[in-house]
Amino acid sequence: RPSDAQRKTIYALSTPPGKAGIAVVRISGPEVLQVWKHVVRRAEPEPWRMERCKIIHPTTGNMLDDGLAVYFKGPKSFTTEDVLELHIHSGRAIIASVLGALSHLPFCRPAEPGEFTRRAFLGGRLDLPQVEGLKDLIDAETEGQRRLALEAAGGAVSARFEDLRTGIIRCLAKIEALIDFSEGEDIEDGVYEDARNDATALLATIRSYLGDNRRGEILRSGVRLTIFGPPNAGKSSLLNFLAQREAAIVTPVPGTTRDILELSLDIGGIPVIISDTAGLRPTDDLVEQIGVERARKAIQAADIALCVVSCEDADATGNLPSVVAELVTENTFVLFNKSDLRPDASANEPNTTNGTPTHRWTTSLKTGEGTTEFLTGFAQALKTRFDLDEDSPHTPLITHARHRVHLESAAGFIEAFLETTAEDVVIGAEELRYAAQAVGKVTGRIDVEDILDSLFRDFCIGK
Ligand code: GDP
Ligand code: ZN
Repeated sequence: RPSDAQRKTIYALSTPPGKAGIAVVRISGPEVLQVWKHVVRRAEPEPWRMERCKIIHPTTGNMLDDGLAVYFKGPKSFTTEDVLELHIHSGRAIIASVLGALSHLPFCRPAEPGEFTRRAFLGGRLDLPQVEGLKDLIDAETEGQRRLALEAAGGAVSARFEDLRTGIIRCLAKIEALIDFSEGEDIEDGVYEDARNDATALLATIRSYLGDNRRGEILRSGVRLTIFGPPNAGKSSLLNFLAQREAAIVTPVPGTTRDILELSLDIGGIPVIISDTAGLRPTDDLVEQIGVERARKAIQAADIALCVVSCEDADATGNLPSVVAELVTENTFVLFNKSDLRPDASANEPNTTNGTPTHRWTTSLKTGEGTTEFLTGFAQALKTRFDLDEDSPHTPLITHARHRVHLESAAGFIEAFLETTAEDVVIGAEELRYAAQAVGKVTGRIDVEDILDSLFRDFCIGK
């Protein structure tokens, strides 16, 4: 429960600062009508109706701007509290004077970052996937990201997690029934078997969500790419080439676990995150075992690896030098570079490595030969591999690592339930309860009892 101090009326500029047609100042909290009285100085507003008004300084009485105001009466507002939006002209001095005026009201304070959304969550207006979706929607840079985020913000993702959670609680209800009714009362045959079948089906569903190749996370935040290869093959040249292209967005992303920078690029509409790990620098001493180990780790942590070798180092049939060949997995694409030094190099031929079909391209990063084909082919290969087509009808469920963690834990509890028998229904029920709570952590709704009660009311057991 939020304390009263937190529940003060808050205000903030909701649009970017600077010159523009309009700026919106948002005010939320119990004293919104007082704010209205002091700065709009009119009779009570009609809710949800935009009104032309003058914005007045509460103490000096000076007119600050001529704008529009709309009052959202709680709980039918974004935060579930009373909300007032002042639509003013966007200019530095106007914005400063209106925010300054609000700071003169003792019952108001400036909002902290994300505080409006926080109140929406606390008020039950949004659950966690919706909050995540809203943030992702604002951050979305590609069409795929926008669509995914919009769905989450609208509650579609939450609904799917809630379905899953309700399914587990239904299963739990059957087991609970067996506990409650065990002493000599009539109970339908097969209730226990029913529950087991439910649990098996639920486990399969969760497993299918988990086995999604990280598609949702990739759509949302990008493909994690590691580049590796022998020294002097052209790895640094490739990075420079990718980063300097006009279409490339070079964003230094602060590393989450280490103090490293990641390079975030847009390759053919696909966000790709290249981390500056073993694949880039230390592999220059790839011949050393330690370098190989580092590269192996980086490759494992990535969604896709790109092995860069010089055409000079590959034999006539395109076989890789053994030091890199042993690092090639089914998630490795290969780029033969320096084709200018080997005019006989075979261009863009499909090939197999260790029996696995891989994509191969041939370029000269020096002359530019083959680079366009490589970029288009690479983007297409990523699209196909991770099902990233914008028109794909399948909406992935897991878009944040957090979702995966809780689903994995839920799967573990259901497995634990399936290992129990009809003799230990009490323990089995506990496992299912934990499973439901784990899924509930995704949406932030962990109340099991509510649903259980309502299920029991119409759950038909015996006579
Ligand atoms: P890295 O050690 O794998 O990062 O390789 P670099 O990108 O540092 O390149 C090593 C050397 O090869 C540099 O002198 C590059 O200019 C050169 N180089 C890169 N690509 C090509 C190419 O396609 N053809 C030729 N002839 N030289 C290249
Ligand atoms: Zn290098």
